[in-house]
Amino acid sequence: MLNQHQLRTMVSKLAVTYGVLTIVGMWLEQLTLVLFVATLAILIVNIKEFIALLNWIWSSPHKRYVSRSNHWDQIYYGVEKIQRANRVRRRQLIDSVGEFRQGADALPDGVTVYNQRHEIIWCNRQARLLLGFKWPTDQGQRLDNLIRHPQFASYLALEDFDEVLLLPSPINDEMLIENRIIEYGSDQYLLVTRDITRIHQLEQMRREFVANVSHELKTPLTVLQGYLELLSDEPSPAILAMEQQAKRMQALVEQLLSLSKIESGAVASNTSPVNMVAQLEMLKEDAINLIGQRKLTINFEVDPHLDITGNDTQIFSACSNLVFNAIRYCPEGSTITASWKAVARGAEFSVVDNGIGIAPHHLSRLTERFYRIESSRSSKDGGSGLGLSIVKHVLANHQSNLQIESEVNQGSRFSFIINDERVISA
Ligand code: ADP
Repeated sequence: MLNQHQLRTMVSKLAVTYGVLTIVGMWLEQLTLVLFVATLAILIVNIKEFIALLNWIWSSPHKRYVSRSNHWDQIYYGVEKIQRANRVRRRQLIDSVGEFRQGADALPDGVTVYNQRHEIIWCNRQARLLLGFKWPTDQGQRLDNLIRHPQFASYLALEDFDEVLLLPSPINDEMLIENRIIEYGSDQYLLVTRDITRIHQLEQMRREFVANVSHELKTPLTVLQGYLELLSDEPSPAILAMEQQAKRMQALVEQLLSLSKIESGAVASNTSPVNMVAQLEMLKEDAINLIGQRKLTINFEVDPHLDITGNDTQIFSACSNLVFNAIRYCPEGSTITASWKAVARGAEFSVVDNGIGIAPHHLSRLTERFYRIESSRSSKDGGSGLGLSIVKHVLANHQSNLQIESEVNQGSRFSFIINDERVISA
């Protein structure tokens, strides 16, 4: 910046020059001509300097300027200072981008940045390995042109960022990848890809193991129950206890088998019509039988014109688990209401009771396998901790999820909504 001293020097130089010129002009008696010629000369010199400055800025910005020893020096100095600061800033920016990319390359997951037109802006090393992208050749390519899977195209179009999509990798059919989209900034998206082949294999092994063990337990258990039945002609407390435990074990084995089937999707396709009125009528009879002599009030409020598509066995299993739980865990004098009605997003099944309720810290864990609140009471009542886990899987197979609201000593509300697409209203 021009300081006070430089400004004063510049003004005084100009004043001295014009002072001398005025004296010379007056002496020659040609004051106007002398001043005009001198001003023209100053103007030409400054225009030349201006052109030199423009040339320097546009054609040789990296070249150091040659000191002018006049007021133009300050302009050169200022421009060079700004350029130097910009160069440093640019270098820092390039370094940060480089560091960020190195960091992103070290991530165990594939990361692909793309825009609203689904064109790739950037991807990390893992994305190239999992999805077979070539870099930088594939920059600007549309994602759905490179991942040619019909499910992927609809997943991209859906823009439901809570959903994950499992797919075989485009470069290796045996590799299973999990894809998740994250929206950020304006018009920018991240596709995060994870290799879950190993997790999937372990999960499958666990499922097969549970299914096989449960299946293998069935035969010895049936034999055992047969002998116990023979012995029950002369019942003793020991035999009665054995019978009761054998029954519990059989119920557990059946629940495990049903959970394995539901989890693996082995139960027949879930797109056939389900007659909800008939299902809930059946459930009502079972519920009344289960209540037996206990003093419990149960109401069924069923919309008779509301059916769905799905798997009837699974849907019955989900609804019955919720109703039977309410019956099992509510003390005498409680009221239970099961209802099936149309709501804004589809059709809702709910079971409301005014029983013991559930403390908040249990709520998020209730659908885990074998999770029970008070194991002694639950197992005494025949509970295994598998019921709500079965409900969760059934609902996942029907694109729904279980909602639980509860307050200790006030009661609970278990509900789920079957989406509009599956509802058939008469
Ligand atoms: P279980 O076979 O033990 O009933 P569930 O998975 O069906 O297993 O339920 C898990 C736990 O949730 C149960 O042990 C029970 O303590 C609690 N629970 C379920 N429904 C209710 C309810 N309506 N009121 C109070 N507690 C409940």
